[in-house]
Amino acid sequence: MENKKVTIAGAGLVGSLLACYMAKKGHDVKVYERRPDMRKTTIDGGRSINLALSNRGWKALEGVGVADEVRKMAIPMYGRVMHSREGELTNQPYGLNGEAIYSVSRGGLNALLMDEAEKHSNVSIDFDQQCTRVNLETAEASFKSYSTKEITKVEGDLLFGTDGAFSAVRSSMVKTDRFNYSQQYIEHGYKELSIPANADGTHKMEKEALHIWPRGSYMLIALPNPDGSFTCTLFFANEGETSFETVNTLEKARAFFKEHFADALELMTNFDEEWENNPVSSLVIIRCFPWSKNGKVALLGDASHAIVPFYGQGMNSGFEDCTVLEEIMSQHGDDWNTILKEFETQRKPDADAIADLAMRNFVEMRDLTGNADFLLRKKIEAK
Ligand code: FAD
Repeated sequence: MENKKVTIAGAGLVGSLLACYMAKKGHDVKVYERRPDMRKTTIDGGRSINLALSNRGWKALEGVGVADEVRKMAIPMYGRVMHSREGELTNQPYGLNGEAIYSVSRGGLNALLMDEAEKHSNVSIDFDQQCTRVNLETAEASFKSYSTKEITKVEGDLLFGTDGAFSAVRSSMVKTDRFNYSQQYIEHGYKELSIPANADGTHKMEKEALHIWPRGSYMLIALPNPDGSFTCTLFFANEGETSFETVNTLEKARAFFKEHFADALELMTNFDEEWENNPVSSLVIIRCFPWSKNGKVALLGDASHAIVPFYGQGMNSGFEDCTVLEEIMSQHGDDWNTILKEFETQRKPDADAIADLAMRNFVEMRDLTGNADFLLRKKIEAK
């Protein structure tokens, strides 16, 4: 396979992993990331603090030899613990043979993948570089420095857009003929809160579980962190009778939590500060096709298929993009037209399927998991 000059826009979870895969194939990889280096600065992640990592993600991490390192920072969650309004707990194991999904820190995982990418002498990562323009014919990309405003034009043989749900690389494709694109904001947004650790650093609730407070049209979830804390996420309608729009003061928020999430509120010792300061963020579903142009430019991860987080599969499927691309690269040598065409054709149905499943799982998580019939069915299934 001929060595190519590969440009990657976006050093998030998928871009950093893709850099490792490309470097392993011997390509010269230049990664450009809009934000400052997260390993040196504290930056507002903007999105979930921790994520659920599952089999597809593990497979992709194993492919570049980092799974063991990641395992050291991951907490297994062997099942769901459902919290009723009265504070009663119900365990629902994920499998009968000790199967688990894993809670990992988004920042920790991203930093580890960047470190891993930079171990390769053929990879460089430049920060504070925002992709602003792309030439889809030549794969040349322009990056603008936030701090100096200077524009750098980068030539390469291949350009990958791993620049997330609001991808600049995709924006340049949107303007081309017969490019299909849809962007859908769902009714619900989310706010992050936390349950701090006990004074001795232990967890205040069952550590090795994903906690859910299902309440019909809204829900609270909590994932464990290694420092003894839990990151909690309230998924709540943006507008309507019971929503962020109406629960709009600290007093109302406290009353609302006392009524619906009393056992969680008791443990949320930073509730007031977090409710006031943490933003309400939106959830968007992105679908588009094709994912590549001219055998030179392609999208991976959220840039081509951003989904809602209710199946915990957005990152996992972005990681799987890397595994699948690598397999196809191994089959087709230097024929990048075929590689990218086959990649998008193979991945698109899977990306659409997980987008639908994720939306469906929202209904199950917020509603059915707390429903008596559902619990009975689960108990019968478990026997
Ligand atoms: P991103 O993580 O968005 O990274 C894109 C990178 O590109 C960023 O570093 C960004 O700064 C950079 N960038 C953006 N624009 C430019 C530009 N113009 N030029 C250069 N760089 C640019 N997934 C799971 O698998 N499990 C979960 O449990 C889970 N939980 C989630 C919870 C929430 C609340 C949300 C919102 C998402 C969750 N996800 C989860 C989904 C997951 O966060 C995404 O699928 C994943 O982050 C996608 O990775 P990415 O690298 O494609 O995009």
